[in-house]
Amino acid sequence: MVFNITCIPGDGIGPEIVKQAKLVLDRVAEKYGHTFNYKDILMGGASIDVHGIPLTDEAIADAKAADAVLMGSIGGDTNTSPWYKLEPSKRPEAGLLKIRKELGLFANLRPALLYKELADACVLKKETSDQGFDLIIVRELTGGLYFGKRETVTENGIRKATDTLTYDENEIRRVAIKAFDIASKRRKKVTSVDKANVLDSSRLWRQVVNEVSKDYPDITLEHMLVDNCAMQLVKDPAQFDVVLTENMFGDILSDEASMITGSIGMLASASLNETKFGLYEPSHGSAPDIAGKDIANPIATILSAAMMLRFSLDLSKEADDIEAAVKKALADGYRTGDIYTEGMKKCSCSEMGRIITENI
Ligand code: NAD
Repeated sequence: MVFNITCIPGDGIGPEIVKQAKLVLDRVAEKYGHTFNYKDILMGGASIDVHGIPLTDEAIADAKAADAVLMGSIGGDTNTSPWYKLEPSKRPEAGLLKIRKELGLFANLRPALLYKELADACVLKKETSDQGFDLIIVRELTGGLYFGKRETVTENGIRKATDTLTYDENEIRRVAIKAFDIASKRRKKVTSVDKANVLDSSRLWRQVVNEVSKDYPDITLEHMLVDNCAMQLVKDPAQFDVVLTENMFGDILSDEASMITGSIGMLASASLNETKFGLYEPSHGSAPDIAGKDIANPIATILSAAMMLRFSLDLSKEADDIEAAVKKALADGYRTGDIYTEGMKKCSCSEMGRIITENI
């Protein structure tokens, strides 16, 4: 089959890690007889340097025309880069916000998986990390508190700020459907996280999620309050399969879930729209401190490419192959600097890419 993939190498380590992901994809294409046509576009600082803005209309059109978008990361050193002397709407991150909006990406997926080979990096108690965990947070990305009406006023000499948290049932339903669809390809459990004991928006969230669950009789649904979920993630993460939640709760919980794995260079992510289209990127940033040194960990980007095959291109077997190749590289003792421990085989970004490619 032939697929068109728009790539955003971006800034910092972005070009190095996307290059490795493309090599892995090319090996998959060779093995299974597919063709991946890549088109690179500029975004973030790389686009500012050429076009003066972080994302052009032509780049957006190229992204929309593709079957999926694979991204490295964007942005520079926020203290020293000239990009951060520009007004906020012209800075690198404005490109990311714009592309998410233009592509209608309302569901953000962040897997948090503890590889047994990296259990030492896990910050949890040994008896908890020994059990391992493999969960995915599905976060609503375009509604809720971050997009509600807000204002700051001074009344009778007292400053007062207001943010509003609004969801309509359609916004809740479409992200809930994504979560149930994903659970049906995994261990068939959805934990919907809300604050229904206090918030009206959470009570509506719970009602709509219950309605959606009726179409998925083989999926177990449980509801959990967000404060309890924050505790359960550090106490017993193995209980979770798919965690479904609204924008702000998801922002906080997905960072917590990432951190308990202890290795930022390993964490993939995806943002999806109503169709199968999605933007796939590592959870980490552009790491300007190590850019150009060939020492970055490319695994988060390679695993993001695997998610792209699974969720946007319907190539689950090929995605399984990439994930197995990553596990084998770890089991064989290969480690980039960020996940290196004594006795392991230290390798560069490009060596790690080659080793994973050869494992496919
Ligand atoms: P960061 O994730 O880039 O780096 C944090 C630390 O983790 C650094 O020490 C870095 O060297 C290390 N690190 C990150 N990824 C790594 C990898 N693959 N391999 C090895 N080490 C890795 O976060 P930051 O320093 O806060 O941000 C740097 C820039 O990235 C900023 O401009 C920020 O705005 C941007 N950023 C972009 C995205 C994105 O593109 N979606 C996300 C987060 C941050």
